[in-house]
This record gives sequence, C-alpha cells and structure tokens, in this order.
Amino acid sequence: MEKICVAVRVRPPVTHDSSTGAFWKVDDNRISLHKSHGTPISGISYAFDHVFDEGCTNSRVYELLTKDIIHAAVEGFNGTAFAYGQTSSGKTFTMNGSETDPGIIHRAVRDVFDRIQLMSHREFLIRVSYMELYNEEINDLFAVENQKLQIHESLERGIFVAGLREEIVSNAEQVLKLIESGEVNRHFGETNMNARSSRSHTIFRMVIESHAKDTTCSSTDAIRVSVLNLVDLAGSERIAKTGAGGVRLKEGKYINKSLMILGNVINKLSDGAKNRGHIPYRDSKLTRILQPALGGNAKTSIICTIAPEEVHIEETKGTLQFASRAKRITNCAQVNEILTDAALLKRQKQEIEELRMKLQGSHAGVLEQEILKLRNDMLQYELEREKLEMELEEQRKSHKQREQSIRDQQMKTDNLGSLSTISDFERSSSQAQDSGRQSLKEVSSDSSSKSQGDIFSTPSNFKAAPHSFVVKRSNYSQLPSFSPLPDAFSNVVDEDTWFKMNKGFIADLDSLQITPARKVQSFPPSDEAPGSNENYKHEVHNLRRQLELAVEERDDLKRKHAEQAVLNDQLVREISELQKEAQLIRDIPQRLCECAATCKDIYVDVLSKTQSFISDEKSSAATLLSSISEIGTSLFTTLEAQFSAAFDEDQGVLSRNSFVIEEQRKILSERLNSTIKLFVSSEPSSLENEQVRNSLCHGEYKDRARGGETACWEEKLSNELSTIKGRYHGLEEELDSNNQLLEKSKQRYDAFEAEFRLLKEERDSLHKKVSESSQTLALVTDQKANVVKDLNHELLRRKDLEEKIEQFRVAFGCRKTSLMSFHSEFKSKIESLRAQNPVSVPKSVGC
Ligand code: ADP
Ligand code: MG
Repeated sequence: MEKICVAVRVRPPVTHDSSTGAFWKVDDNRISLHKSHGTPISGISYAFDHVFDEGCTNSRVYELLTKDIIHAAVEGFNGTAFAYGQTSSGKTFTMNGSETDPGIIHRAVRDVFDRIQLMSHREFLIRVSYMELYNEEINDLFAVENQKLQIHESLERGIFVAGLREEIVSNAEQVLKLIESGEVNRHFGETNMNARSSRSHTIFRMVIESHAKDTTCSSTDAIRVSVLNLVDLAGSERIAKTGAGGVRLKEGKYINKSLMILGNVINKLSDGAKNRGHIPYRDSKLTRILQPALGGNAKTSIICTIAPEEVHIEETKGTLQFASRAKRITNCAQVNEILTDAALLKRQKQEIEELRMKLQGSHAGVLEQEILKLRNDMLQYELEREKLEMELEEQRKSHKQREQSIRDQQMKTDNLGSLSTISDFERSSSQAQDSGRQSLKEVSSDSSSKSQGDIFSTPSNFKAAPHSFVVKRSNYSQLPSFSPLPDAFSNVVDEDTWFKMNKGFIADLDSLQITPARKVQSFPPSDEAPGSNENYKHEVHNLRRQLELAVEERDDLKRKHAEQAVLNDQLVREISELQKEAQLIRDIPQRLCECAATCKDIYVDVLSKTQSFISDEKSSAATLLSSISEIGTSLFTTLEAQFSAAFDEDQGVLSRNSFVIEEQRKILSERLNSTIKLFVSSEPSSLENEQVRNSLCHGEYKDRARGGETACWEEKLSNELSTIKGRYHGLEEELDSNNQLLEKSKQRYDAFEAEFRLLKEERDSLHKKVSESSQTLALVTDQKANVVKDLNHELLRRKDLEEKIEQFRVAFGCRKTSLMSFHSEFKSKIESLRAQNPVSVPKSVGC
C-alpha cells in the first residue's frame, strides 16, 4: 500500500498587482496564506510531498514528481500523472510545457525510450493512444472519425475504451509527432487575443509490454503489461458570473460536473477503507477511466496548480483542500505479469517469428522496420475486429428488442383472437333462446369490458418502447456505483482570471470558437525505394502479406454478409407475419357485420313470436310492437349501411360512422321513449302485454313496471352501441399502430438493404483489389522468372566463353612450345652451319 504522491505548483503571477491583501507563501513543502504584513493566517497552511514555487521549471517538477512513476511503468507498474486546478493556473503548461521547457508528457515519452535502451535484456512493445473527454463523450484524438466511444470492462483487459486507435511506436520522435497531430483535434476555446483554454480533459495513454529476451534463463515466459496515463484536465468556468450561454455554458456544465464527481470520488477514497462505502466511479467517464489510478493498482501522482493572485484565493483554497484529501488516498500497485493472450506481445509472437525467419539475412534496420509495420497492421486489424464485435453485439441487442416487439405483437394477435371468440360466443348465446336476453346482455357487457380492458387499456402489453426504456433505466440504477447528480454547479473560477491572463481583454465566452477538428494522417507514409534485390524481395513479401490480409478481410466480409442475409430473412418473415396480422384486423369489420346480421335475425324472430300473442290489431300493445319493429328495422338498416361503408372506405370514415350511429341511436331511443309513454298513459295493464313482457324478459321482470322494461331495452341498446363504438375505436387505434409498426419495419428493412448494398460494394471493391493484387503478383513473378531465365542464359554464355578462352589458351601454349622448339632447333642448325662455314652466314639471322 502506498499513498498517492501530491504536489502543488504555483504559477507565476500574470501581472504584478500592488494589492495589499493576503498572499501565498511557499516554504519547503508547505504552502500557507499570509496577511499583507507577513503574519500567517491560522488554519490555512498545507503540507504536501512537494510544493513548487513560481520559479520552478517543468524539468524539476518531472524529476521530483513523475520520474519514478515513469520508471516504474517501464518495470511493469501501472502509472498515472494528472494535473488538477482552476482555469489558467498552469495545468496544460505543466503537462505539455513550452518550446523551451517541455512538459511532463514530452519528458515521460523520452524517458521511457531512454530507459528501454538500458534494459537490453528485455524486449519491449509500446503502443500509444490519445483521447479527449468532451461534453461527457470520448473522442479519439488520433482518428477524428472515432467519436462517442464507449467504455467497456473485461476480465482480461480491465477498463478500456472500445474502438480507440492505438499506434505501435518504436521511438520518442514518432510518439511526439503523433501527439502533435492529436493536439490539432483537441477542443479549445479561442479568442482573437490568443487565449487558449482547454475545453476537454485529455488522456494520453502508453501501454508498455515487455518480456525477457532469453526465456531459457527465466522460469516462465510471463509478459509485463503496464498502462501509463498522463492526464490534462480542463478547468472550470464561473457560469453564474460570466452568464455564458450556448456551447460555452454546456461545456462548462460538463466540465464542472466531471470535476465535481472526481472530487466526490477523492472525498470518498480519503475517508479510509472502513468508512468509505461505495465509490461513485461510474458517475462520470473521467472517474471511470481513472478508476485503476484512484484507489487501485497504480502508482499515481497529482499536480495541483494554483494561481497566486489574490482574486483567486477562494479557488486556490478549494484546490488545496482537494489536494490534501487526495494525499490521504492509498493505492496498491504491483507488477502486472500475465501469461494469457491478453498481451499483444504474446499474441503477435508467432507471426513475428515467422517474419524473422523469412527475412533472415536481411539488413537489421529493414527487418526492424518490417516488424514494426507488421505489428501495427496486426494491431489495427485486431482493433477493427474488436470494433466489429462491438457492433455485432449492438446488433444482437437490437435484434433481441425486435424479438420482444414481435412477441408483443403476437400477444396482441392473441387478444384479437379472443375478441373474435367472444363475438362467436355472443352469437351462439343469443341463438340459445332459452337462456334469455338478460343473460346475453350480461355476457356481452362482461366480455366487452374484458376485451376492452385486455386490448385497449393495458399499455404495458403493447408499448414496447417505453417498456425497454424502463428496463434500461432500472439496470442503470442497479449499477453498484451510481448516485444521483445535482443539477446546480458551484462557481469555481473567477472570470477575472480571463481579464488578467489577457492583459485587460475580457473574453466574451459566447464569442469563443471551437477549434475545428481536422482529419489527420496518422500513419507515417512508408517510403520504400524499389530497384535493389532486397527491395524486390520485400515488395514480393509485402504483396503476399497484402494478399493474405485481403483474403482475411474478404472472408470476414463474407461472414458478415451471411449474417446480414440471415437477418434479412428474419425481417422478411416478420413483415409477412405483420401483414397477416393486418389482414386479421381488416377482417374484423366483416365479422362485426355478420354479427349484426345474426342479431337482426334474432330480433325479427322475437318480433314475429310476440306478434303471435297479440290478437287485437288495434290494441296499444300492437301499436308498441309495430313502433318497436319500425325502430329495430331502422336501427339494423343503419348499422348494415355503416358497416358496408366501413368496408369500402378508409379508416378515417370509421370514426365518422360511429358518430352517425350514435346520432341515430339517440333519435331512435327518443322515439321509443315517446311511444312507450303513449302506451303507458293509454293502457295501464293487460294480459297481452303481460305475455309480451314474459316472452321478452322470461319472468325476471314480472314485478317491475313497464318503465323498467323500456329502460332495460334502452340500456341494452345503448350498451351494445357503445360496445360497438368502443370496438371501432380500438380497431382504429390498432390499425394505426400496426401501420406504424409496418412502416418502421419497412424503414428498417430499407436501412438493412442499404447497408447490405454497401457491404456488397465494399466486398466487390475488395474483390477487385485482390484480383489486381494477384495480377500484379503474377506480373512480378513473371518478370522475376524472365530475369532468372536471362541470368541463366547469361551464365551459360559466360561458361561457354570461358571454355573457349581455355581452349584458346591451351592451343596458344602448344603453339608457343612448338615455336620455341622450332626456334632452338633452327638456332642449333645455324650454329652447326656456322661451324661448318663460318664466313657465308649473314649476321642478322637468328640474332
Ligand atoms: P490551464 O491549462 O490550467 O487552464 P495554462 O497551462 O493554459 O492553464 O496556463 C495559462 C497561461 O499561464 C499560459 O499562457 C501559460 O503559458 C502560463 N503559465 C502557466 N504556468 C506557468 C509557469 N509555471 N511558468 C510560466 N508560464 C506559465
Ligand atoms: Mg489547460
């Protein structure tokens, strides 16, 4: 267990104001507030691991505060260094530095590579990434297209940002160039007075992997993996005082929120392990990413920067309190040694060995370059695969949601089925005359209320979207370290800082412009000089590798294509199911119409039966009956007319029809009422009426007055009408929602189709590329064969020439010896002739 290393750095004053107020005094590793005449203000004095005064350089800060962490990171310990403080207090200056005095990041990068040089017994693999947290979204500073990245956690990799570009690097210059390109994409607030204020938190990350070169000496082939985070936090704004609005206000809120959550996390962690409770790491992305650095497995240093001006005393006090709380946090750092495939070094080992074998005998520099290139390519492919896997996961999730909505639809269909069953039941029960009309009414009203309740009044069954939303919310709230965020943010920074920093110019925060993000070429261009035999070999090798990669990519695309096809099939199935469902819904008015026809038959039956009881044609019962018959006929005619109109016309007519039915119902019931009143006043009671009543109500209403009977009829009619009306409304709504669903499915289908088309195009272009590559390869192979043939030919010719020269040499030798012998023979003959005749021989011969 070790404490976090905390230091305070005082920025040089911007203006030498002659105010007579309080001032901060640095004494060794203590900082305290003093009154203008020099007496210390009690209670405002803090001690830290280091306190750097205004004259201190970045080099000294690095040496005393960060160097050990960087060295430990090379040894396998996780490390984090971050700068915290109010706006313009010198955080960016400390982390990035200036031309003349480079900051912590630059020094750390150089130091890491210097350190590696000294550790010749280990092989290192370093990759870097650079991200920005802007408005609570993670953006990739190495690749502007990677925006809104997500944080994931896995057992092997711990907390990581999925889809973030990582570059494998081999020297400090390369890293610094990458950082420079990343800086361009960072969000700054700019004014024409050159005030640059970081509007985002940035995290520069180095992953250092290493293993012993000679594995025979060590018992295991464990790989050390450490993560080094160098963080430059954004400062906060004084929202209320500046009255900033728009983009600035939104940024300020997010910055304040994440800094406040960082403060909360530090507070909790400083409480000590026993009282600590849950730590709200998940409340912001910043704390989530820094989780291992805060109270975890990492060596951490925090540099708190403060502004010395009197106007900033309150903010400085806040920063110092934050620092002294952070001082109490303990971490438990240990060397991370792993044996699994989580280390890139291990995953790439086999491929690198193969490449080494292939390039054996090549120049060391070329070999290293090739290895680096291969490593980077492999890493990019891994990252790409990881991204695709994430996307696939997302698709799976949405697929599940779709399945859920289909299930909901199914349930809806079942409910509709039960509705039609109820209609059938109504019909059969009305046909059973002996069960009586009253029971029919009870069943009908029960069933209608039931069906309405099931279909139209239970939103949870139908509204898939709110349901899933609720599920998501509850999941989130179940997370172990969630706590609600307050809406209001306290004022942290005095806007006078802006005034002072800009030499009198007051920055209008609303007029600040965001530095536009620029696309950056992240890969350094490879410059190979063709011509020599070595390069020729490399070229062939590269082409082969490219071909392999292209084939892999093609296979990947094929797999994706197959998955898309499956998805497409599923969508088609879903759509046909929905169409069936829509057909069912369309059939419902037809069924209702049939139902009304049956009711009419029953009605006519009942009327004729009642008429048989009436002997006197002129009695009031007969008048009532004829009036009822007239009303009934009119009612059924209206109903039939409306139903048939509903078939022919569109859905909008349904509501109009129900309105007409309602109107009709009112007129009819008025007419019925007046007829009944007439009947009651003219003939209070008679045997015939009693019989009619009996036949209609089957004795249940014997003791009731006639008013009760008519009320019963009236109520029944109105109930039936309202049921029909309700059903129409329901059907109309359902049809609407189904149409919407169909439309959505269609849109989704279109989107899938477009995606599929894109993928196909991509695959085709890849095909083309592959075929081009293979053509080039074939061409190059042909050329090579030709060159070899020419060479062989030349060799044969040379051999031939050499043989001829040899023959000539031998022949020449023979000739020379024969000439020599001839010469000596001739000479001896001359000698003998001279001896015989010394005077006659001329002097020139043979001499
Ligand atoms: P922050 O990142 O905290 O908002 P900056 O690092 O951008 O603040 O600093 C604001 C200004 O103050 C810059 O112009 C910077 O050069 C200057 N500055 C900060 N600290 C120092 C220092 N220690 N020495 C010299 N200049 C400094
Ligand atoms: Mg800054």
